[in-house]
Amino acid sequence: MGAGHSFTGIAAAPGVRLDLDRLQGLVHVDTDRGRVTLHAGTRLHRIPALLAPYGLAMPNLGDIDRQSLAGAVSTGTHGTGAGYGGLATQVCGVTLVQPDGGLLTVAGDDPLLPAAALSLGALGIIADVTLQCVPAFLLRAEERSEPLTAVLADLPDRVKSADHFEFYWFPHTDRAATKTNTRLPPSSPRRPLPPLRGWLDDSLLANGLFRATCAAGLGVPAAVPAVNRAAARLLGGREYTDASWRVFTQRRTVRFQEMEYAVPAELLPAAFEDLRALIDNRRWRISFPVEVRWAAADDRWLSTAYGQDTGYLAVHRYWREDPADYFAAVEEILLAHGGRPHWGKLHSLDARTLAQRYPRFGQFQALRNRLDPDRVFSNGYLDRVLGA
Ligand SMILES: Cc1cc2nc3c(=O)[nH]c(=O)nc-3n(C[C@H](O)[C@H](O)[C@H](O)COP(=O)(O)OP(=O)(O)OC[C@H]3O[C@@H](n4cnc5c(N)ncnc54)[C@H](O)[C@@H]3O)c2cc1C
Repeated sequence: MGAGHSFTGIAAAPGVRLDLDRLQGLVHVDTDRGRVTLHAGTRLHRIPALLAPYGLAMPNLGDIDRQSLAGAVSTGTHGTGAGYGGLATQVCGVTLVQPDGGLLTVAGDDPLLPAAALSLGALGIIADVTLQCVPAFLLRAEERSEPLTAVLADLPDRVKSADHFEFYWFPHTDRAATKTNTRLPPSSPRRPLPPLRGWLDDSLLANGLFRATCAAGLGVPAAVPAVNRAAARLLGGREYTDASWRVFTQRRTVRFQEMEYAVPAELLPAAFEDLRALIDNRRWRISFPVEVRWAAADDRWLSTAYGQDTGYLAVHRYWREDPADYFAAVEEILLAHGGRPHWGKLHSLDARTLAQRYPRFGQFQALRNRLDPDRVFSNGYLDRVLGA
């Protein structure tokens, strides 16, 4: 297991569970090629300081950085940016401990790398991961509260013209919080958020506000639309420039459950409209925003973006609310749009249905049968999604 941040039982074990939290740090740096090898358990938030002396950075990150490196790549963790892949696309080598204790190194042009870089923990224990990094860079963040109709009207242009674009739609409102990040060279002037503003925005507004909207949703569901409208207007409206990892990631202190599906990028607008109509037509009161992101097509066999430019739709529910009806109805819509579920987030698919959505699924199963025929590296979740 990594940091235990998956919403599914993917890191749960019926027998022995190996905690790699003490296997952290830098193993090797190839300065000529900008490649770094890190111990598998290294938490993402530790990596920037390890890379700083070499002037390197990870090209893209997700919303948070509490995960372990191996856990994040193994589930297909991704951020946003139509021209950028998920974290597993940064992997150019892994060392796997096999069931007999032997080491298997998969690196470079090895045809197994696209399988081993995103393997759900099913091919062995990852001991180290080699990442292709990029020169350190800054990001200029522009965050706005905008009418949803305006965002949807020129969505393809926004997605294409920005390095990293995403938006959050607040259900029961016509408001969206947009975030557009632009990559800048490290010599550009830094304009970080003043510490007090950063604390106020993140602790009080982002997390405190979500806690309040969630509490309102539980206590007085009818108040959710008004609370969401207020939240949507309060969030957004700031610009700053800082180190890439500081801008990519945030703190999340409100507990929630999440389901996220990938759909072909060109189908995302239609999928989003169907999702919006569903929420409008049902009597649910959804306090958490719907998150919308993008990623470039990649070649990782079990990547949600395998072979297709991809859009992501993520739905959330406060941990004290039952997500079952909402998630099931959203899942039906996203499956109809060719969806593939995030491996670390809630979904109901099994190996039979997943095989139809991943062209290389059978090859992955064959590789698993060869490397781990006795299922040393399995659990209930993997039995369900890959087959026993
Ligand atoms: C608040 C929050 C925000 C999130 N934001 C995002 C986001 O922006 N984008 C996104 O895509 N996802 C996101 N996620 C999901 C998260 O990134 C994934 O679930 C990720 O796998 C969690 O990493 P972990 O280290 O906690 O792994 P775990 O959940 O502990 O494990 C995940 C899988 O990795 C395997 N694994 C871990 N270490 C090893 C190893 N050394 N060798 C072999 N297998 C291993 C485990 O066996 C398991 O199969 C978020 C989750 C939370 C809770």
